[in-house]
Amino acid sequence: MDFSVDSKIQSTLAGIRSFVETQLVPLEPLLLAARWDELGPALEAQRQAVREHGWWAPNLPVAAGGGGADLVELGLWSEELGRSPLGHYVFGCQAPDAGNAELLLLHGSEAQKRRYLDPLAAGRTRSCFCMTEPEFAGSNPVQMGTRAVRDGDDYVIDGHKWFATAADGAAFAIVMAVTEAEASRYERASMILVDCDNPGFHLLRNIPVMGHGGDGYFSHGEVRFEQCRVPASNLLGRPGAGFVMAQERLGPGRIHHCMRWLGICRRALEMMCDYALTRELAPERPLASQQIVQAWIAESSAELHAARALVLEAAWRIEKHGFKAARDHISMIKFLTANTLQRIVDRAVQVHGALGVTDDTVLAFWYREERAARIYDGPDEVHKLSLARHLLKARQGRG
Ligand SMILES: Cc1cc2nc3c(=O)[nH]c(=O)nc-3n(C[C@H](O)[C@H](O)[C@H](O)COP(=O)(O)OP(=O)(O)OC[C@H]3O[C@@H](n4cnc5c(N)ncnc54)[C@H](O)[C@@H]3O)c2cc1C
Repeated sequence: MDFSVDSKIQSTLAGIRSFVETQLVPLEPLLLAARWDELGPALEAQRQAVREHGWWAPNLPVAAGGGGADLVELGLWSEELGRSPLGHYVFGCQAPDAGNAELLLLHGSEAQKRRYLDPLAAGRTRSCFCMTEPEFAGSNPVQMGTRAVRDGDDYVIDGHKWFATAADGAAFAIVMAVTEAEASRYERASMILVDCDNPGFHLLRNIPVMGHGGDGYFSHGEVRFEQCRVPASNLLGRPGAGFVMAQERLGPGRIHHCMRWLGICRRALEMMCDYALTRELAPERPLASQQIVQAWIAESSAELHAARALVLEAAWRIEKHGFKAARDHISMIKFLTANTLQRIVDRAVQVHGALGVTDDTVLAFWYREERAARIYDGPDEVHKLSLARHLLKARQGRG
């Protein structure tokens, strides 16, 4: 087994790491202090620099204006970009736009690609994905209440969504709605493109998350669709294929997320070490001299590397054998990495003491914002159940 990374990719990764360190980390205080007016233009300037380096949108094919990286390479990029909460956005491969662009590439008509994908891929617009509803358990989205009813050449959408990440300022939404009410459970819903300036699209609020409302890209919206009329040609893919397409969208997304979380883990571990080395409990007695802190550092490093090996193996399996063959690996990495992230960030906060819970470092941001990693894209429990079911079925089949 060969774990080496191609020297060309290694040198690109080194360039990206240095860019993140020197250009993006210094902008983090604007994010942490919620100085959105200053942050926006600063990020735009950095996006321009990324384009000039030829690093824009590594997840998209070259023909769509991206870098055409395969899944393993993309995972390695994602790890470097994850070192700052600003990384993915500045490199044009942020959620939910990356997944939405992939949906448009795979299922969009030519007209939809020109109208929605081209400006999105170029970073001129943003988008959001509206699936989850406050009234229904998102873990089982087939129970959805949102309806899109055909009326002549249009669909008319009515429904209530929340946690539409980055809805604030998005140009369009991909909305999951029931269009085929009489079909079987998994074939009822479709994806429909809705312009956010449609008079039937109402962004009710940016939902406060652990005390922070967020703004623009860094927010999660509650949205109501009221008699929201769109041309029937805005249906994305085939009617009733919404759930199949949503699953496809989540597959590569889980690799991006897990590697992003590992980037966070790496930086949190480095911060843990740096602080432990400099914070003195008494003269000549830094925190790093304490065995309990050394154990946290060692455990964090081992957990990080174990999760990383599994995530890269999952990416490799998807690349070689497809999503179906990798489904158990995808479940494993989702809950394993999310929990690794939570433990390592928690230890880093603990080592920093009171400083760890302030917004003077990025740790509290991650502690707050990344708690959700164990909930979105399938909560821990759903992945564990699915994995255990497959393992048990395989053993039963032997009897
Ligand atoms: C930060 C963040 C960003 C998000 N972004 C988006 C977005 O852009 N677009 C979008 O549509 N949605 C988004 N979501 C919503 C996300 O997809 C849902 O929160 C997720 O699917 C879980 O649904 P729920 O919150 O309704 O939890 P529920 O389904 O009500 O589940 C509640 C809890 O029950 C437990 N549980 C669930 N199923 C089982 C089971 N079978 N067995 C045992 N326990 C179980 C889990 O612990 C779960 O956390 C986002 C959520 C967050 C937190």
